Amino acid sequence: MKDNLLDWLRDAHAMEEQAEKMLTTTAERLENYPELRRRIEQHIEETRRQAQSVRGCIERLGGDTSAIKDATAKMMAMAQGMSGMFVSDEVVKASLASYTFEHMEIASYRALIAAAEACGDMETRRVCEQILVEEEAMANWLADHLSKTVQEFLVRDETAGTTAKH
Ligand code: MG
Ligand code: FE
Repeated sequence: MKDNLLDWLRDAHAMEEQAEKMLTTTAERLENYPELRRRIEQHIEETRRQAQSVRGCIERLGGDTSAIKDATAKMMAMAQGMSGMFVSDEVVKASLASYTFEHMEIASYRALIAAAEACGDMETRRVCEQILVEEEAMANWLADHLSKTVQEFLVRDETAGTTAKH
């Protein structure tokens, strides 16, 4: 049981590394969507703390953090971030990707909470429940602001002399 829990915590750590890279690339490029940018920047801070908390759980359980998984996650994030440069509706694609990613995180932490409970690891359960609250808040914010982002993009895209894509 503990091996599975450790493995999933390593997956979560890699996921947070990927999230940090992806969100950083997105935030840096969002010149014309300051509200979205600020919320993403706030979540980057949260994401860094989440990665540290997850690392803490791994270490407490006596496991080592897998550098291989983290490197793969970072490469995936880089590809994701760069793909935005080649589409004309980058801000919309980034909003969809972030929304999807937050829900993957929510599912992962729900699974981890169940696994930690089965293992009797109440500290890991507590940490994951805390992270889950932040992921849900981010997912809800993105859901609430998606229409506004899309509509802003559409207006900017029709206005001569303005950049719409980011
Ligand atoms: Mg996260
Ligand atoms: Fe997140």
